[in-house]
Amino acid sequence: MQLFGTQEIRNNQFYMGGVSMEELKETYGTPLYVMDEQALTENMRLFQESFRHERLDTEVIYASKAFMNRAMVRLLKDSGLSLDVVSGGELYTAAKEDFPRERIYFHGNNKSPEEIAYALKEGIGTFIVDHELEFQRIALLLKGDRRPQRILLRVNPGIEAHTHEYISTTKNDSKFGLSIFDEATADFIKKMASDRRFDFRGLHCHIGSQIFEEESFLKAAKTMVEYMRTLSEKGVQVRELNLGGGFGVHYVQGDEPLNLNKLFEKLLAQLYTLLEKENLLPVKIMIEPGRAITATAGITLYEVGSVKKTFGGMHYVFVDGSMADHIRTALYDARYTAKLTGRMMDPQSDTFRVTGKACESGDILVKEVRLPLPRPGELLAVFSTGAYHYSMASNYNRLTKPPVVFVKDGGSRLVVRRETYEDLIRNDL
Ligand SMILES: *Cc1c(COP(=O)(O)O)cnc(C)c1O
Repeated sequence: MQLFGTQEIRNNQFYMGGVSMEELKETYGTPLYVMDEQALTENMRLFQESFRHERLDTEVIYASKAFMNRAMVRLLKDSGLSLDVVSGGELYTAAKEDFPRERIYFHGNNKSPEEIAYALKEGIGTFIVDHELEFQRIALLLKGDRRPQRILLRVNPGIEAHTHEYISTTKNDSKFGLSIFDEATADFIKKMASDRRFDFRGLHCHIGSQIFEEESFLKAAKTMVEYMRTLSEKGVQVRELNLGGGFGVHYVQGDEPLNLNKLFEKLLAQLYTLLEKENLLPVKIMIEPGRAITATAGITLYEVGSVKKTFGGMHYVFVDGSMADHIRTALYDARYTAKLTGRMMDPQSDTFRVTGKACESGDILVKEVRLPLPRPGELLAVFSTGAYHYSMASNYNRLTKPPVVFVKDGGSRLVVRRETYEDLIRNDL
């Protein structure tokens, strides 16, 4: 298996941040989300340092939805990255840590009037406008005396990247943004650009997630520049181009993430050449990674409750978590690697299915994994769970959400406490 960040094996035991899983279990119990703090900050730095070009202004914006809480916002604040939020709740979390409002981008296809008013009151930097009705809604809520509100428009460039291909057939039916193939979109952009209450900065697109193909990003960039030229001919200058996130990460053997240094060097060089040729400079280029910053920095630690071999031959490992803390397998048929953290190098005895406590057959955490025969009480780690696990956790079956722990330099600290039964009924009347 591939180890990331500070992960290591000592005497057959798994360690992260210099801390053993036994120690974490003793201190915090299971199930437990464990994040490698050094890996998080290194990943942030990697993006900051590699997404650069000597003649283009660039900006890296972290997509909060991948993993967010107050401790994460504090790390982000120090890293210099900007922040993408998609709800009043994400904005509230950022505001509680006094994240610089100028560096906040508000996304989403259905921002409520309350959320818009809240974001305006907080003075966030930029709204990513999704469609015209929303633009009007923001305009209605603007107060006359303020500086023009910065906006970008989310557009759909007709490229939908999937793991190993891009499929253009569904290109015109995404719920997000407006199609660049629709003539009305350019007219709407002209209207926004000439509205004095706004500072129309440019365009945003996001072509998908968990992308391993360099070609998808290059194609999106090229298509966007072509569209910028079209707009320029209509008298609208685009000053900012946000290419979204989607950089793929390693979950299981065979997943081959792009070398980001190489990708960005190529992408920015290509963009610079195109923009210069079309006389469109200066343009600031932005990206919005989420998963690529947090996924491999996190694991979920569980305790094995039991094993059971069915009459049909399926060999189950039951752990003390469930689809409530790990939904991606049920939701996307996502694949994962798991290990018994106290017997990392032991010979494997069989192929197992890791499942949890939820009252549902679809409650699968890891569909297939080779393991030594697990014993009740042993610890099992599922890897690459730092993105879209804690943030997607629910209370299904009235299960309490696991806590989040950061490990670093041989120590650990709780950053989100474990939910209690009392928390579960807090809002019940
Ligand atoms: C989800 C999302 C991202 C982050 O995607 P990752 O695959 O986690 O990098 C960035 N921008 C937008 C608009 C998104 O919806």
